[in-house]
Parts: sequence; C-alpha cells; structure tokens
Amino acid sequence: MSKIVIFPRLEIPPTLAAGPGPGNTDPRVLARFAGAGTADHMQADVLRGMIECKQMLREVMGTRNIHTFGVAGTGWSGLDAMFGAVMPGDKVVMFVNGTFSGIDGLTVRMKAATPEELAASPLDPQAASVTVVTVPHGESVTGEVVEAALAEHRPRWAVMAHWETGSGRINDLRGFSDACERHDVMGLVDAVSSLGVANFRIDDFPGVHGWASCPQKGICCLPLTYAPVSFSDRYIATLRATGCRSFVHHPILEARHWGIIDGKDVEKGTYHRTHSAYAVAAFHEALRITLQETVADRAKNYAFHEAVLREAVTAMGCKVTSNMTSLVVLTLPDDLAGREMELVQTCRAEGFGIWPTLSEPVQVRIGILNLLNRRAITEIVTRFGEAMNRMGAGIDMTRITAILDRQFDRAVAAE
Ligand SMILES: *Cc1c(COP(=O)(O)O)cnc(C)c1O
Repeated sequence: MSKIVIFPRLEIPPTLAAGPGPGNTDPRVLARFAGAGTADHMQADVLRGMIECKQMLREVMGTRNIHTFGVAGTGWSGLDAMFGAVMPGDKVVMFVNGTFSGIDGLTVRMKAATPEELAASPLDPQAASVTVVTVPHGESVTGEVVEAALAEHRPRWAVMAHWETGSGRINDLRGFSDACERHDVMGLVDAVSSLGVANFRIDDFPGVHGWASCPQKGICCLPLTYAPVSFSDRYIATLRATGCRSFVHHPILEARHWGIIDGKDVEKGTYHRTHSAYAVAAFHEALRITLQETVADRAKNYAFHEAVLREAVTAMGCKVTSNMTSLVVLTLPDDLAGREMELVQTCRAEGFGIWPTLSEPVQVRIGILNLLNRRAITEIVTRFGEAMNRMGAGIDMTRITAILDRQFDRAVAAE
C-alpha cells in the first residue's frame, strides 16, 4: 500500500504584482468573494447579481449589445467563446504583433482548420483559409496594414488584439474597425488588456462584432471569475445560422444564464452550468468599483502613473518601447544589455513580480494594474532601481526619487 501524503496547508505570501497581469485584485473584491454566503447557482440573489452584472458590464463596455455577459474562466475562456463562430474553412485575416495575438492566431487556426489540416498538425494546424499578417515585436498594427490585408484577402473575419500585452503596444482600433466596415468583414477584438484601462466605448467601433476581455487586468477582479464578452446582433445571427461546436462556450447558450434568451433580456437566468455565488459577488463588486471611479477617470489615472514610471526608468537609462498605459516594456541600459532575464528573476525571487517578455527579444515588463498611487509607484521604482544597482548600474536613486516627488507634488498641487 502506498503511503498517503497530506501536505502542510498551502501558504502563498503576498507579492507586489507589478506585471502585465494579473493585477492586484481590489480588496473590496476579495471581501465580497470571501463574504458571499454559501448559495447555489439558482438562488435568487445570485441570479439577480448576474443580471445586475450584465447591466453594469454594458455600461463599462459602452454598448447596447444584448449579448454582453461574463464567460466563466480567464481571458482565454472569453476569447474561446468569441472565436466559436469561426467555422472550418472560414476565411480569416489575423494580425499578430506579439505573444497574445500569436495565441489568438493559434486559436483561430484551430477553429478554421479543416479536419485534414487539424489531423496533419493537431497542436499547430496550418489552416489554408487563415492569413496571418505578422507585425514585428515592438511595433503596432496600423490602419494601413489592416486596410491593405482586408482589400487583398476579402475574408469573412478579421482578428486583432486591441492592446498587445506581449510587447506593450496599442493597435489601431479605429483603423481596424473602419477597414472592417469598408470591406464588410466581421471584426473580432481581443480587448483583454484594454478594458477598464483605456477610455473607449465598443459601440463606437461598428466594424467590430465580437469583443472579449478578462477579469484580472483592467477589471481588477480575481483571475478565475468572469471574462467579459460582447457580441453584435450580426455576430449572433451568423452564429445562429452556422452553430458552433461547443456547449459551454456557445455565446447564445451561455447568455441564457445571464437572462438573455432569444435576443431579449428576461427577468431571470436559466441553468447553463453551475455558476459560483462567490465569483458573481466578486465580479459584481469589481464592476461597481469601475463605474464608481468611471472608466474615463481611471484611464486618466493610468496615463498619469505610467508617464511617471516611464520618466523614472528612462532617467535610469532604460529604453522604453511600449505605448500602453498599464505597462512599461523596456530594455536595460547598454552596460547591462542582455541581462534582462537575470534581473527579472532576481526581482521575482524577492516577491517583486515583474515579468520578462515571452517572445524574443527579451525585455522587462513592469505593470501598474490597480497600483495607481504614489506609494505603489515609488515602491516599484525603488525596488527596480535597487535591483539594477546590485547588478552594478550605479544609479543615483536620490535623483530618481526627486523625479517622482516632483511629479506627484505637481499632481497634488493641480488638484
Ligand atoms: C492576458 C491576456 C490574455 C490571456 O488572458 P488570461 O486571463 O491569462 O486567460 C489574452 N490576450 C491578451 C491581449 C492578454 O493581455
């Protein structure tokens, strides 16, 4: 008989989550998560909470799309539901400029592959109907690139990440939506990194018919709760005609639990799967926080704190190549060049959770999700500078701290 091992209780220490995501779950969200009573998925307040979440989410996303709700899981769960309408053999143009749009591309190739193409390379199918347009690391997808590709290929679907978290680049959503409209293509957008950070309303982009985001970045919820999605009526009509090969990630079926049936809001949801009272309570609070702060103010707050962080690391001699407002992607000064991974690993071992890029070239990624205050930014800059100094950077940290003080004092004075 083998011996049964019961491990000691799992303790996870707090870290400073200064990466591209997950962000720092808001304490209010954690309190609602832990404070929810044990209740089943059809209990009246759980169902009411889901309906309220749906309504608040429409406000956060800026949409009148009836099919707006949360897909249980992480960002990829929402994306999988969104890509569910892509059928084998569908013509798709996919724009890739980093790790995440690259994985979106893989998902799309899996959905669009014919049975023969999938069998030939099950984990990485090369679907002839999918055109992948690759934009180099560190660059954005522009409206011109989208226009040229759609004019040439005339696909049914076009796919782009709004904010490519792998390289920290914002892609041209306006150009993408306009080109989709011009060529009557249905746009699908990975908005995992931008929702709740950037100030935009999805209804202002009528070329885009499917949107998917995540719980744990701009929405400040727990990673495994609800991935926001929204679909236009045209997307839903298309899906209704073709069907899709999923029960659980079927946008029409999944919407029922959120009280969306036959394209209409109904008073209470019907069973689709076992939703969690805790997850609903957490998601509900996260949406309340976003609406109380307002998306517009939060976007301004991100822009300010990113600019301060950027100025500080630039003064340390780092070269910033990103333009997202929740994340700084940088290369170390010349005398430390090539030691990015070593620096990241040292910081991570000390509970300072910054990240490397996941594709070449190796750069450092420092994120500020839900870290929009003087204390947090100062801690990030100080810990980063000290780690660089231990590698011999020789940075005068009093000069760097003076930059932070000047920016934060100026902001306080302006209020
Ligand atoms: C983080 C991220 C994902 C994946 O989200 P998970 O919550 O890890 O599943 C997908 N796309 C983009 C652009 C991201 O930033």
